[in-house]
Formats: sequence, structure tokens, C-alpha cells
Amino acid sequence: MKRRSLFCFLLAFVAAFILVACGKTETKETTTTTEEAVSGASEKVYTDPSELKDSYDVIVVGSGGAGMSAAISAKDAGANVVVLEKMPVIGGNTAKSSAGMNASQTKFQEAEGIADSNDKFYEETLKGGGGTNNPDLLRYLVDNSAGAIDWLDGLGITLSNITTTGGMSEKRTHRPADGSAVGGYLVNGLYYNLVERKVPIFVNAEVTDVTAKDGAVTGVKVKIDGKEKTISAKAVVLATGGFGADLDMVAKLNPALEGYVTTNQPGSTGDGIALAEDEGAATVDMEQIQIHPTVEQETSYLITEAVRGEGAILVNAKGERFVNELETRDKVSAAINALEPNYAYVIFDDALKDRVKAIAQYESKGLVTTDATVADLAKEIDVPAETLQATLDTWNQAVADKNDAAFGRTSGMDHALNTGSYHAIKVAPGVHHTMGGVKINTNAEVLDTNGQAIPGLYAAGEVTGGVHGKNRIGGNAVADIIVFGRQAGTQSAAYVK
Ligand SMILES: Cc1cc2nc3c(=O)[nH]c(=O)nc-3n(C[C@H](O)[C@H](O)[C@H](O)COP(=O)(O)OP(=O)(O)OC[C@H]3O[C@@H](n4cnc5c(N)ncnc54)[C@H](O)[C@@H]3O)c2cc1C
Repeated sequence: MKRRSLFCFLLAFVAAFILVACGKTETKETTTTTEEAVSGASEKVYTDPSELKDSYDVIVVGSGGAGMSAAISAKDAGANVVVLEKMPVIGGNTAKSSAGMNASQTKFQEAEGIADSNDKFYEETLKGGGGTNNPDLLRYLVDNSAGAIDWLDGLGITLSNITTTGGMSEKRTHRPADGSAVGGYLVNGLYYNLVERKVPIFVNAEVTDVTAKDGAVTGVKVKIDGKEKTISAKAVVLATGGFGADLDMVAKLNPALEGYVTTNQPGSTGDGIALAEDEGAATVDMEQIQIHPTVEQETSYLITEAVRGEGAILVNAKGERFVNELETRDKVSAAINALEPNYAYVIFDDALKDRVKAIAQYESKGLVTTDATVADLAKEIDVPAETLQATLDTWNQAVADKNDAAFGRTSGMDHALNTGSYHAIKVAPGVHHTMGGVKINTNAEVLDTNGQAIPGLYAAGEVTGGVHGKNRIGGNAVADIIVFGRQAGTQSAAYVK
């Protein structure tokens, strides 16, 4: 049995076991996110609200990758843990993540002969972030990235297929073996591990306050089942994600982003930042909000960077390339915004489709225009056919020569675009990631405005700021949530002992 099939079987088995063992109705959900559909839908079972206790060692707020990694790590370190999620389903933005997880010096890179180094990963991330990343957090991230890949592998979450994203010179974006999107696979795998460890997961459970006494955290207030309840804990891990779905907050912090669409799930509203600020936490880089260059505008659907990483090009309405497609996101977004009209087409061929499984989802959503020949495609998307053909010819020559004289692209050039049918997706930038957030140290402790750790308060993932500086590199957020999620779990469990 393949590992993924084994996963699904175990998941179904564990879910059925819990239902029978508990003999009570639990909240069930059949996952329907894109990525889960790509990597295999699975049914999830959540803990009944009546089972919420008055006290735990560690309360994890949020069930994305950071929260679930923290909960698994805290549990494995001996703590009594609970996960509280305000949405009716778990996964947050993590479930939507597509390209993969960046990591350096991994066993999977070694197996492919990719000579990467943590120092190179550090330098390229720092460059992508405009030199404004917190150096200690970034160092911790890169030095623990390979360990995070191994940790996931040990949990049955194997990210062995490697591609690239903008701003990276080496292939270091790890994704599932079949090239499918990382998010659904990761969420399913982490969920399964929580179930296996009997960690309770409550959905529709919105944390509205972190309680504290004499400066130390004592628990949370949570709205669940129509009631507000106070639960005590010595430690709270905030893993509530970013605020990319609160477009008013986005526009207030960065007025230039008024009117943009967002790729984020509706629960990404910055709750954890407000909760931490109420306890005296400092924030950092709040105005640094990333727009992603390739978002389909009618559906706000993200077209993953892995499509360009595997060789796609961008063309303007004249059928011409206009940018190094694997520049960092801020630069590619700016190049699209400078176009007249200000949209672009992602162009790829059938061979690329086989390398990026997420494209099947874009097709099922009706986002992809497909034709047997370049000329027919050009006609359908209304760009000059001769120009589009010339653009592809020049590009394929650049791939053969490994020399993109026009725009200096150096990565995502392993394959020519010459296997019909040909495909196009119309895109423009959309709000995607909030780099700023709560200030933490390398122990994932939340810092107050004097730089002191707030006793018992931890945070990890997109709710925090500092790791990415003013521009996040594709693939680095998933690295962030796993590396710092683990750390928040381990440290909070140590604190409560
Ligand atoms: C479409 C898309 C594609 C992406 N692709 C990639 C990629 O390929 N690689 C990469 O590195 N990054 C990617 N990212 C970014 C990355 O997915 C996120 O930054 C990351 O998953 C955030 O994880 P998290 O655990 O911090 O937060 P989330 O996964 O967003 O989880 C936070 C959870 O907390 C819950 N919550 C919020 N407030 C409360 C509250 N008050 N009480 C209880 N629960 C609460 C939320 O509902 C949510 O479920 C992508 C993002 C998007 C939107």
C-alpha cells in the first residue's frame, strides 16, 4: 500500500474508532479545499464541545501548520494540550499552501545531488527580505529547516520532491513525492498525528482573550457552542495566522493595497496580534504586507509559484515576456502592476502540467485556457499569435542555452515549453501574506515592548513578525510554521513542567 493510501486508511480507521469509543456525536467535516482534493480528500472528526475541560497545561490557539506542529511537539514533550480553532474546519491558510516548504542541507536534496547550504539559504532570504529580517530568527529558521523536514518525515509527512521559487538559486522547495500541493497533505498528516496522540481539537471555538495574573498567562476565554468559557493553562501558544483576510486592516496599514483581492481564508483576521497586544506584546513590520503576483482575479485563486518554478513564463497583453518570472514576489508584482493593461498570462505546456499537480485544480475551476497550438491559444486569449510564438521560441532557446539574455532568469529553466497542448491563466497581484506580527525570540516566547518575554505566552507562524523582513520568499512560510511551531510546543511544554 502506498504511504498516502496508508494515511487515508489510518485516518478513517482512527476516526471510526473515536466515534465508536466515545459513543457520541462529534463534529464531522469532509474536507473540500483545493489542495486536499489534489492530494486526496479525507474526513475529519473533531472533539465534541461538551468535552472541553476547565484546565490544560498548554492551550494552542489556531489549527494551521504552526498550531498543529506546536500541539504535537508539546504533547510529545509530556504536556496535556488542547487545540482551539475558530473556524468550522481546521487548517487555516496552511491548507491552501501550494508550492512547498523551503529547507536547506536536507537528505532529499542530498539524494538529488543538490549542493545547498544553510548559509546560502540565509543570505538569499535576507536579500529577498531587503536585509530587514530579524537575523536571529532567520538563523534559527534555516539551521532547523532540515531537522523540520526530518521531523515531518518521521510523522509520515514526506516532502521528497523538490522544486524552486522566486529569489532562490537552489532547488530547496520541498513538496509531496507526486508534486502535489503541500497544504492539504501537510494538514491531513498533522491532523492524523494529533488524532493518534489523542489531542482534543475543538472547532467553532474562538479565543477572545488571553487571561493573565501578575504578568503571567493563566489561560484563555473561548466562545464555543454559543457560550463563553474560561479555561486555565500555564502556557498559551498563539498560532492564529496572519491578517490577510481583513482587507480593511490591510488598507489601513498600507493604503496602496485598497481594492486588492486576497488569497487568504476568511479566518485570517489578525486575532492573535490583538490578543497578544492586550498582554503588552510588541509588534514588528506590521505595514509589510505581501502581494502575490499570480492571482486569478475572479476567484482570488492563487496560481502557485511552482508553475513558474517548473518552467512557465509570464507574458503581457502583447504576448511578450516583461520580467524575470522568478524574481522575488515584490518585484514580479510591481512589474505586472506597471503593465498597461495591468494583467499578465502564465503560459505553460502539457509537459509542465504533469509536473505540477495543482494545475488539475485550476482546470477544474475553469481558470485555464487550453489550445492545441500556440496560434490558437494566442487567438483565444487575444494576444498577437506571431509575437507569442516568437516569445516561446526565444524562451526555448534561452532554456537550451541556459542563458536568458532578455531578463537574466537563472532558475526554473530545466524544461522547454514545446509540448502541446498550450495553456494560459490570466493573473494579477493579490494580497497574500502578512510579514509583520507579534515579536518573538528564538524560543518562540512573545516579547513585550521592553524586549522581555511575557511568562507563559508563546507564538509561532504568520501571527509573528521578523522572520521574513519586508518580503517573504515563496516556501519560507511553511518552513517558518513548522520550525517555530515545533519550538513553541517544545518550549511551552518545558515551561509548564
Ligand atoms: C493560497 C495560499 C498559498 C500559499 N502557499 C504557500 C506555499 O506554498 N509555501 C509557503 O511557504 N507558504 C505558502 N503560503 C503561506 C502559508 O500557507 C501561511 O503563511 C502559513 O500556512 C500560515 O500558517 P499558520 O499556522 O501560521 O496560520 P494558518 O494556517 O492560517 O492557521 C491559523 C488558524 O488560526 C485560526 N484562528 C484565527 N484566530 C483565531 C481565534 N481567535 N481563535 C481560534 N482560532 C483562530 C484560523 O482560523 C486558522 O485556522 C500560502 C498562503 C496562501 C493563502
